Amino acid sequence: MSAPLNLKDHLHHPTFALIGSISDTEGLETYVIGGFVRDLLMYRKKEHYDIDIVTVGSGIALAKKVAGAINPKLKVTVYKNFGTAMFRNMDVDFEFVGTRKESYRLDSHKPIVEGGTLEDDQNRRDFTMNTLAICLNKGRFGDVIDPFDGLGDLEGKLIRTPLNPDITFSDDPLRMMRAIRFASQLNFRIENDTFAAITKQADRINILSKERVTEELNKIILSDKPSIGFKLLETCGLLKIILPEIQNLKGRESVNGIYHKDNFYHTLEVLDRISQNTDNLWLRWSALLHDVAKPVTKRFSPALGWTFHAHNFVGEKMVPKLFNRLKLPLNEKMKFVQKLVLLHMRPIVLSEEEVTDSAVRRLLFDAGDDIEDLMTLCEADITSKNEEKVTRFLANFQLVREKLKEIEEKDAVRNFQPPVTGELIMEIFGLQPCKEIGLIKSAIKEAILDGEIHNNYEDAYHYMMGKGKELGLTPVKKDNG
Ligand code: ATP
Ligand code: MG
Repeated sequence: MSAPLNLKDHLHHPTFALIGSISDTEGLETYVIGGFVRDLLMYRKKEHYDIDIVTVGSGIALAKKVAGAINPKLKVTVYKNFGTAMFRNMDVDFEFVGTRKESYRLDSHKPIVEGGTLEDDQNRRDFTMNTLAICLNKGRFGDVIDPFDGLGDLEGKLIRTPLNPDITFSDDPLRMMRAIRFASQLNFRIENDTFAAITKQADRINILSKERVTEELNKIILSDKPSIGFKLLETCGLLKIILPEIQNLKGRESVNGIYHKDNFYHTLEVLDRISQNTDNLWLRWSALLHDVAKPVTKRFSPALGWTFHAHNFVGEKMVPKLFNRLKLPLNEKMKFVQKLVLLHMRPIVLSEEEVTDSAVRRLLFDAGDDIEDLMTLCEADITSKNEEKVTRFLANFQLVREKLKEIEEKDAVRNFQPPVTGELIMEIFGLQPCKEIGLIKSAIKEAILDGEIHNNYEDAYHYMMGKGKELGLTPVKKDNG
């Protein structure tokens, strides 16, 4: 047998050597395993590292000993139920666990867990690339233990289960989502038998909690090219279970030989395009959902061809139900997605026509501080194959952006506050709360947005007086402010 690959030159963090020497003293075999080893071998840089340590013995006891040797005050968090313990040292999280053997019964996806060897522990892991372990004991410090040719799979960019994939996925269906998430994040291929097993068992996703599935879905959405993950989800049958609304976008119908575009592939193109410009999860969700109501609003008429009338309004209404089902937050994040879905056509429509000041002002008023994100979504939405059309759109967009800036500097409508308050209107005309106050307020707002008057107190005051007169009101008081 040839000597194992040795990575000791890459284990810079002083905690590794310390774990090794304490393990030697305690007579324990200890390894670093899983994602850290995989990412190290792929030269994958991360903002934050979490490092999984396994020891053939008690992970909790070892974590406490190591932490104590670093600094007796270092806090160790213990999860007794899971047999794990973790601490943070120099910005890196170290999580310790004892090697374990898992056996599953058919009627439950909760395994029976018992202590085991390193090999048992590697057997229970999801993919060959995630079974790679590096020994930390002094004599073998840096040696890579690779029973399933994870190194070969990393080299070949292949996602493959270490054992029979049918069993691996049946034991824990979350692994199906993880396979696709890794494929999307790392741009790897899922090995054929592994993918076939996912296709066969897609239904089993339903036994998991929504939160866990959604967490993986979010990671797919946050990958560099999310379309990789979504195409796989679609092909294996998971998409129609977890996101039927997106599945329904797929396909092209024709009447009299006239087709509409495939909105699934269009949506994925928009999502990929926006991902080059933003890491904001919620802006990416907006891209994924911007056309979600196209299937339900689709009509064909000989005069107009295919239309998707009001799909933005209907889409906005579909968002809460979808977020609720997926256990996504029902707070301002969701409202943001709704707003972007609602407004996603506005800048495009604007750029198709002459870009008037009042149209730009209205857009600014409606989008408020989300105007930049809306423009980013809109630019990503221009996916025409027609180069000339795309160039023209993007040039017009540039114009819209300049106008937005110019008008905002002049009129400050982005965070519109009525320049004349309801209280003042009541005071001037001697009114109790009544509908006239609302009428005057909204007339002032409209006049500002139309550019009839400027967004300032003087203009608004005069306008209010005129409007009051029109409504048959008499001032009882003059403004003395
Ligand atoms: P990342 O942290 O980048 O998401 P990771 O591979 O480190 O990727 P974790 O969820 O942190 O993923 O899990 C750490 C390790 O635990 C994995 O590399 C894998 O060996 C194992 N693992 C995690 N989840 C499962 C699972 N559902 N089934 C089997 N093994 C798993
Ligand atoms: Mg990890």
